[in-house]
Amino acid sequence: MVVGDISTGTDVLVIGGGPGGYTAAIRAGQLGLDVTLVERDVIGGTCLNRGCIPSKALLSGTGLAHEATHAAELGIEGDLSVDLGTMVDWKDGVVDQLTGGVEQLCKAAGVKRMEGTAFFSGEHEARVMHGGEGEGSEAVEFEHAIVATGSRPIEIPGFSFDDEPVLDSADALALRAPPERLVVVGAGYIGMELSTVFARLGTEVTVVEMLDDVLPGFEADLARPVEKRADELGVEFHFGQAASEWRHAGAAADGGAETAADEGDESGEASDDVGQEGAGDDGVVVVTEDEEGETYEHPADAVLVAVGREPVTDTLELSNLGLEPDDGGFLATDDQARTAVEHVFAVGDVAGEPMLAHKGMMEGEVAAEVIAGEPVGLDYQAVPAAVFTDPEIATVGMTEAEAEEAGFDPVVGRFPFRASGRALSVGDTDGFVRLVADGEAGFVLGGQVVGPEASELIAEVTLAVEMGARLEDVIATIHTHPTLAEAVREAAANARGKAIHTLNR
Ligand SMILES: Cc1cc2nc3c(=O)[nH]c(=O)nc-3n(C[C@H](O)[C@H](O)[C@H](O)COP(=O)(O)OP(=O)(O)OC[C@H]3O[C@@H](n4cnc5c(N)ncnc54)[C@H](O)[C@@H]3O)c2cc1C
Repeated sequence: MVVGDISTGTDVLVIGGGPGGYTAAIRAGQLGLDVTLVERDVIGGTCLNRGCIPSKALLSGTGLAHEATHAAELGIEGDLSVDLGTMVDWKDGVVDQLTGGVEQLCKAAGVKRMEGTAFFSGEHEARVMHGGEGEGSEAVEFEHAIVATGSRPIEIPGFSFDDEPVLDSADALALRAPPERLVVVGAGYIGMELSTVFARLGTEVTVVEMLDDVLPGFEADLARPVEKRADELGVEFHFGQAASEWRHAGAAADGGAETAADEGDESGEASDDVGQEGAGDDGVVVVTEDEEGETYEHPADAVLVAVGREPVTDTLELSNLGLEPDDGGFLATDDQARTAVEHVFAVGDVAGEPMLAHKGMMEGEVAAEVIAGEPVGLDYQAVPAAVFTDPEIATVGMTEAEAEEAGFDPVVGRFPFRASGRALSVGDTDGFVRLVADGEAGFVLGGQVVGPEASELIAEVTLAVEMGARLEDVIATIHTHPTLAEAVREAAANARGKAIHTLNR
């Protein structure tokens, strides 16, 4: 402790106010624990402020505009203009409403809020550095700590986020005018969602990806429709290429990126209008390289680097707790979200893949309940994942290949949306629902959906996997007609050879 310091004491110190941290804090407060939540920025973390919510708001706004301009078949015609600035103001309003709501929920649960950046100064003590000049710092003594410091975008060599034309996902979500040309480095879910947003706004989008396909990690038949639709939107793909540097279009190839960086720094102000200003009149050139060492040049006005995220654990002075992250910076936890140090828990992105908000929220709840003495644990067999591209993709549990690998003799049922009355009536028939089940007992082991509202439909499959429901349970459930959800029941029936609205396999 610093001499003269007044130390605050708390049962539970939560560091980080994202979905993992605020959920943990609210639940701990509900359980009567004395909780202090430290956040260095705005409450809500990446998810509410610069991740899930803003990206989905812009996907829905641009989706609406895209649908309206492509509905001549329905007799809807007319000129339409989109003002991204206004859409971003609306998106910011959505974010403010949600973060304000979370603040209120914390207050209602009796959570003490502390603004500042925390690090561990002892086994049971943290120091919180308050932001502004002269605001100083204070010590907090705690019984238990929950680390929920989240993640940040990974920078790649040659592409500093400090350089004006180089954007991370947060920068891209704050642009008030679309760039004319955008190179997106990385065809993962963040890269593909943001490519969709900007392609719909008329930006010429070029995606470069080191691997051979979009959405690596998802099965090819799920990713293919996304690539096809993106293609139709005019997105250009270059697979098997890694981005190596960028330079201003007029600059010489040798050392160009450095020149560009210097110029970016000198401007001293963040441009939210990179298409028109940040990159200069001729824009930039993004250089990529394939496995054979051949180089390619992609002209752009901005470059979005979306190659993944890394945990924020390096600023926490974890050694003062006797805790060490793994090589990737993640904190290993047990099935109660507890780290190797008995009284310290880790939840959300810092605790490892999948780095998804709902996984973090569940870990936050469990950590709080464990601290309160409840006999609970985590179960990761049914963690859904959704990609909000066009069409959407959602998955949960095992694929057919994973089920085989795990020793099951799986049976698979499939229902294409082109056979769904609801899909036809909303004019969106690409894709399918697929269920994977244990052939003999019928337990639903997993499911994959690509198509309209996939992110919503996966909830039923997730419940089935979580509850150990059998195909017969799904088939015996009467589904509302006409809905997209009927496709889940039809897929279950198809797996048993008794689907009515599709040919049985
Ligand atoms: C563009 C984008 C789209 C996404 N879309 C989705 C989606 O659709 N669905 C989904 O499930 N996930 C999505 N994610 C991922 C999701 O945002 C994260 O998984 C989630 O936010 C992780 O929650 P968390 O609480 O672990 O960390 P975070 O949300 O990152 O919050 C951590 C918080 O800790 C604070 N902090 C860090 N260090 C300190 C410190 N030393 N002291 C005090 N405070 C500190 C940070 O300021 C931050 O507010 C998306 C992410 C991005 C970038």
